Amino acid sequence: MSRVELGERLELPRARLTAEVSRLAEAGMVESGGPAASRGGRRSTLVRLASDLRLLAVDIGATSVGVAVTGPRCDVLAHVVEDCDVRTGPVAVLERVAALADVVLGSNPGRLLAAGVGLPGPVSFREGLPVAPPIMPGWDRFPVRDQLASRWRRPVAVDNDVNAMAMGERHAGVAQSLDELIFVKIGTGIGCGIVLGGRVYRGVAGTAGDIGHVRIDEYGPACACGEVGCLEAYFGGAALARDALTLARSGRSVRLAELLEERGSLTAQDVGAAAGAGDFAAVNLIREGGRRLGQVIASLVSFINPGMVVIGGGVAGLGHQLLAEVRSAVYRRSLPLATGNLPIVLSELGDQAAVIGAAWSASERAFALTH
Ligand SMILES: [Zn+2]
Repeated sequence: MSRVELGERLELPRARLTAEVSRLAEAGMVESGGPAASRGGRRSTLVRLASDLRLLAVDIGATSVGVAVTGPRCDVLAHVVEDCDVRTGPVAVLERVAALADVVLGSNPGRLLAAGVGLPGPVSFREGLPVAPPIMPGWDRFPVRDQLASRWRRPVAVDNDVNAMAMGERHAGVAQSLDELIFVKIGTGIGCGIVLGGRVYRGVAGTAGDIGHVRIDEYGPACACGEVGCLEAYFGGAALARDALTLARSGRSVRLAELLEERGSLTAQDVGAAAGAGDFAAVNLIREGGRRLGQVIASLVSFINPGMVVIGGGVAGLGHQLLAEVRSAVYRRSLPLATGNLPIVLSELGDQAAVIGAAWSASERAFALTH
């Protein structure tokens, strides 16, 4: 922004602002962006973050790992994703992360400022490590932040991947400039990122938004967390694969039976593909899951009164049938005042949401440490 706007935003007197901007320019953190558009009166110059600053963004999922390098405004310059089973443990997975980071930084050289990491489980944000993550055996309390910070010798922020996705959508996606929103991720697990007042709300220990283990039915299917009847046990990726297999074997879904014949196994994505091809049983599976998910989201809407609900993650590829069920459940069950102006939409950024959010969190961490 222009120096004038910056001064107004920071409520700093002109002399102080000039001194601070010069100090940042000397440190190589900011540069001039040329003359600002005139607002009448004296012409101002634009100040922007130095364009050779780099942020690393890491998105560790249950079955893949993605690493991106961004410019100073969290704009993705390069992004590589490869298959990687999180159950191989932190040492092996972080080795892959480091190797991929070398690749993206090598093709986009600059000054690395900080890194952000999203993990698919509960994270103690303060300590920078995962705590008893149900789908990440071997990761409990592994010092992810400290390991990567000592490898890269830069500040590192570690967060839950859903929080990262929520901030990604808010910064560069469908929820731009919204201060109150919830982001629901449906992947191998189900979780929810809560943004309040423009910041991620994490709760006391960092587990806020862990809706995958909200109980739908006390006589429901067993869940990976050891309980029964959790939302995730009905509608997570593994649950959908399980139900797809039942439909294929029982002959209730011809399309899923064909896919099983071809490949020997089924995934949640196959359910989406079968539904897309008009398979009645697959469509029903998505409808049922969407209805249960919608019940939980309706409660969240009543509780938080968000300005938008964004649905993302791998299973969000189930698309419009899912969205229709969720919308109908939420609009039916929540107060008209809460839903009167409530868009319920699919993620715009797809698999870039998490890396953009992780870069954002890296940037916050880097600049918080400089003063
Ligand atoms: Zn559970």
